[in-house]
Parts: sequence; C-alpha cells; structure tokens
Amino acid sequence: MKIAVLPGDGIGPEIVAQAVKVLKALDLNIEMTEAPIGGAGYEFAGDPLPESTLKLAKEADAVLLGAVGDWKYDKLERHLRPERGLLRIRKELNLFANLRPALLYPELASASTLKPEVVSGLDIMIVRELTGDIYFGQPRGISTLENGEREGVNTMRYSESEIRRIGKVAFDIAMKRNKKVCSVDKANVLEATELWRQVMIEISKDYPEVELSHMYVDNAAMQLIRAPKQFDVMVTGNIFGDILSDEASMLTGSIGMLPSASLDANNKGMYEPSHGSAPDIAGKDVANPLATILSAAMMLRYTFNDEANAQRIEDAVKEALAQGFRTADIWTEGCNKVGCAAMGDAVVAAL
Ligand code: NAD
Repeated sequence: MKIAVLPGDGIGPEIVAQAVKVLKALDLNIEMTEAPIGGAGYEFAGDPLPESTLKLAKEADAVLLGAVGDWKYDKLERHLRPERGLLRIRKELNLFANLRPALLYPELASASTLKPEVVSGLDIMIVRELTGDIYFGQPRGISTLENGEREGVNTMRYSESEIRRIGKVAFDIAMKRNKKVCSVDKANVLEATELWRQVMIEISKDYPEVELSHMYVDNAAMQLIRAPKQFDVMVTGNIFGDILSDEASMLTGSIGMLPSASLDANNKGMYEPSHGSAPDIAGKDVANPLATILSAAMMLRYTFNDEANAQRIEDAVKEALAQGFRTADIWTEGCNKVGCAAMGDAVVAAL
C-alpha cells in the first residue's frame, strides 16, 4: 500500500502525525511518503500544489491529507493561495465523490449543542459532489463593467454525466445502509439543480429498493437541526454539500470528530478530516486528531478493502472515548483532558 502523506498547514502536521502513528501500529505493509501542500507547498516551491507533490499523489494508492490554509496567505494572488492546491489536487485526481459521515458517538451526546434526544443515535452519510458546480464553473472572475462598476461572476454548471456518477455512488452506499437517499437541490429556482433532480429520479429506477426523496437546500439546512435522524444518505452538489456537511458536523459535537473520503471512479481516494487548518490553535498540541485517525480508517475500508482493520481503528477510537480521553473541543466536566499527541497515544494503546 503506497500512501502519499500531505500534512499541509496549521494543525495539519500535528493531526496527521497521530494518524500515521495509528497506521504504523497496525503493522501493515504500508509505504508512506510525505510531501508539502497548501501554504507549505507555496513555501517549498512557490506553488500550493508543487509538481513533485502531485506526482507523488498520482503514483500513490491513496492520499492522507491534514488541512491547508492560513490567514497569512490571504493576500497572495488567488492561484497561489493554499486552498487552490486543494481544489487542484481534487480535480487532478478526479476525486468527484466526497463522503462525509456524521455519526454521533454516544459518549459525546452531551458535547452537541442540540438536545441529546435529538442527536443520539445519529448516523448520516453526506455524499457531496466535489469537482463541479459553482466552484469550478466558467465564466468566473471579477471584471469592470462599461459603467465603471465592478461585477463578480461565478457559474453553477452540472452535466448529466457528472450528476449520474455521484448519484450512483450515493445509491450504492444507501444499499449498504438503510436504503434511503435524500437528494438536496434548489430546483425551484436553479435550472442546474432542476436537471440534478431529474437525473436522480432516473438513477433511482435502477435501485428499486432505495427510497428516494428530494429536499430544497434551505429546508435541508433546517431539517438537519430540527430532526436530523430522519436522514440516512444525503446527496448534493458541491456548494450545498460544503455548507450542509459542516452544519451536520456540529450535530456531532465537534468538527474535530469528522473524517472524510474523496474517491475517484476506481476507489483511489484522498482522506482528510472535514475541518480546516485551525490556525488559531496550531502548534499548541490541543487539536483533536480523531477526524484524521478516522479518515485513515476510511482509507483502509474504501481504497484497500480492509474492513477488519478499518473497524479496529474505529473501535479503538470508541474505546479511547469510553476511557474518558477528550481533547479540549469535546471535553466535558469529569473527563480526562488530553492534548493532540496524547489522544493519538490513547488510540494506539486501545488498538
Ligand atoms: P477551521 O475548520 O480550520 O476552524 C474552525 C474552528 O474549528 C476553529 O475554531 C478551530 O480551532 C476549530 N477546529 C477545527 N479543527 C479542529 C480540531 N481538529 N480540533 C479542535 N478544534 C478544531 O475553519 P476556518 O477557521 O474557517 O479556516 C481556517 C483555515 O483553514 C482557512 O485558511 C481555511 O481556508 C482553511 N480551510 C481548509 C480546509 C481544508 O484543508 N480542507 C477546510 C476548511 C477551511
């Protein structure tokens, strides 16, 4: 198994080190090679996605990524900013399917801002399209109109094949779960998502066992807070998925708990926590590494088809939580507050 390890910026290096520690503890035949991306890539080669990093990622079976970004790069030209490196690697590797589970560990029910009875037992899989939509659509840019006023433009676009392939991923996952897909769109006002809805209905004909429902994105945002347990698999486009998956993350107590997988058509994947680089807490050994550790578990499951070891990691995380270990973001009275590295050690010990 060849893994490209891209720690990135901010808390990236701290949290990735914990996931690497856990993978090494499994004693598998894994070759891990590190490379810079994001701000670290810019410092290294003047490019948020250095050519050598892209080459390594292309040659690897899977990529383990921390996070990119820091406020100090906000003044750089747009194409040099760390986030560009992330968008480009997703596009270059054709990672069109982003899987973001939102699962509430019973031990953390009290860390959620919602009432325990609303969230306990929560288990949602958000399937977000990742390489299309308004984040990539042309034309885009800021220009000056004839009257001298500036105008900003982005374009929401989805082709039928782009919708079809993400829809199939969602239905396939639903078949392994509770066989419910909720497709989120804004078909009442956006034609791009009107097509999205039509294609989802067409795909559903191939999955008679799966119950398909549709929801407008504004309602979905509300329902996620009102009654989140009604959802099994949610499938949606890039921008709606970006927002809804962060919202769903909060149901679980902390964004520091949520892993993600981004897959291509052959299950090659990039695995990363759902959160960003958290520059406010970088270098302080307080970040929660569990989202990154759980991302490594998803890597074993989806790219390496190693369900047993994926489960071992997930069980070890549960065990560390059951033993009372908590990083600051999920800490509640009576628990044992630990730092990032100590949380990694607790998971390794539980393994
Ligand atoms: P963020 O996710 O980095 O942080 C949001 C809040 O959550 C912060 O208070 C942070 O301290 C906290 N947090 C995040 N991860 C945590 C963890 N593992 N443990 C404990 N607390 C955690 O989002 P932001 O502040 O909006 O963005 C910061 C930078 O990250 C920006 O440069 C942004 O562009 C970038 N970003 C990168 C990614 C990515 O690499 N995938 C995603 C989102 C944001």
